[in-house]
Amino acid sequence: MEPVRNILRHKEASVKYYEAEATKIDYEKKVVYINDDSEIKGDTSSTEVPFDMLVVGVGAENATFGIPGVREHSCFLKEVGDAQAIRKRIMDCVETASFKDQSPEERKRLLHMVVVGGGPTGVEFAGELQDFFEQDLRKWVPDIIDDFHVTLVEALPNVLPMFSKQLIDYTESTFKEESITIRTKTMVKKVTDKTIEAEYTKPDGTKELETLPYGLLVWATGNALRPVVKDLMSQIPAQKDSRRGLAVNEYLVVNGTENIWAVGDCAIANYAPTAQVASQEGAFLARLFNSMAKTDTINTELSLLSEQQAKVSGDDRTAVFDSMKALQRQLRRVKQIGPFEYSHQGSLAYIGSEKAVADVSWLSGNFASGGTMTYLFWRSAYLSMCFSTRNRILVCVDWLKAKLFGRDVSRE
Ligand code: NAD
Repeated sequence: MEPVRNILRHKEASVKYYEAEATKIDYEKKVVYINDDSEIKGDTSSTEVPFDMLVVGVGAENATFGIPGVREHSCFLKEVGDAQAIRKRIMDCVETASFKDQSPEERKRLLHMVVVGGGPTGVEFAGELQDFFEQDLRKWVPDIIDDFHVTLVEALPNVLPMFSKQLIDYTESTFKEESITIRTKTMVKKVTDKTIEAEYTKPDGTKELETLPYGLLVWATGNALRPVVKDLMSQIPAQKDSRRGLAVNEYLVVNGTENIWAVGDCAIANYAPTAQVASQEGAFLARLFNSMAKTDTINTELSLLSEQQAKVSGDDRTAVFDSMKALQRQLRRVKQIGPFEYSHQGSLAYIGSEKAVADVSWLSGNFASGGTMTYLFWRSAYLSMCFSTRNRILVCVDWLKAKLFGRDVSRE
C-alpha cells in the first residue's frame, strides 16, 4: 500500500486530506457527511464537507447474499485488517489443533481451511494458503501434516469463469496436484461457528445437502453495494433501475447528476469490477479534470485579452489578435477529450506452487498461457503496477524476506 500522505506531499496543488468514513452524501444540499472512525476521538469526530463537484470511488463490500451466519463467522478479503484477521485465525487453528489431548476429529475440523467462491479472489487465496502450508507450516509444525487441508467451494460448474476453458482445466489440474480439493456445483446455504451447510447438485441434477466442518472460512463470493452508495442512488430518480452500483455515462458522470463522477467498483459502466478498469477510469478522470481546469484558465486569459484589444490600436492590436487566435486553437485542442474507452489488457491470476494463468490481449490477438513463466510475468506485471519506486522496493524486499525466512506469522 502507498500512504495517501506520501502521494500528496509531491503534488503542487493544494489538497486537503481527511481520514474519515463518508457516512452520507446529500445530493440536494451538496454535502458529504464524514466520521472520524479511529479509536482515538477528538472533540469533533463527525462533520460535513460541502462540494461543487464530487468523485465517488468507495469500491464495494463483500457480497454475502444474506446467507445466515456468513457475516458472523467468515473472514473476508478486502481490507488490510481482513488479511491480518486471516493470519491470526490460521495460526490459532494450527496451535489449537496441536493442543495437548485434542481429539482427532477436532484436529481435522480445525485444520480444514475452506474458501467459498471460485472467482480469482478465491482461487488466488486457496493457492497462496496451500503454498504457506507447503513452504512454511509443514516445517514449523510437522504434527499437522496429515490433517491440514484446503477446500475451494464454488456454486457454478467450474472455477475462474472469465478465463478460457484451457486455463480453467489447467487450474483445476494444478489444484489437484497441490492437493487442494475443488468442490464445484456446491452452493453454501448456511454457516455456523464450526460447520458449513452446502447444497451439491449431482450429475443427474438431484440435490444433496452436506455439512462440512471447518476451522477457517474465507468468504470470496464477489462484490455488493456499500450503504453510502445505495443511499445516494435512492436520492437520484435516474438511478432507480440500477442494481449493482452508480450507473454512469461515457464520461463517468453519474446518470441523473451533473456534478458527480463515479469510478471503480461502485460505478457501473458495463465493465467487470476489476482493478484494471478502475485504474484506467482514474487516469481518464485526471485527464478530464485537467482539461476542464485548462479550459477555465484559457477562457480567463481570452477575456482579459479581449478587454486589452478594445484599448489598443495598430501593431499592438494585431499582436493581441494573434495571441487570441493561438489561445482559441489551444482551447479547441484541450476540449477535444473523447469519452472513456476501456482497453482490456487481459486477465492474470496466481494459482499456487509458483504457477499463474494469463489470458492476454496483445497486438489484436489473444494468448492463453499457464505455468512458471506466466508466474514470472504475473510478478513483473504486479511490480510494474506499483504506485512508486518506494512501493516497488518494499514489495521486492517482502518477497525476498518471505523466501529467505518464511512468512511473518506474528499475531498481535
Ligand atoms: P467473483 O464474482 O469473480 O466470483 C465469486 C464466485 O463465488 C462466483 O463464481 C460465484 O458463483 C461464487 N458464489 C457465489 N455465491 C456462492 C455460494 N453461496 N456458494 C458457493 N459459491 C458461491 O468474485 P471475486 O473473485 O471476489 O472477484 C471480484 C472482482 O475482482 C472480479 O471482477 C474479479 O475479476 C476481480 N479480481 C481479479 C483478480 C485478478 O485479476 N487476478 C483477483 C481478484 C479479483
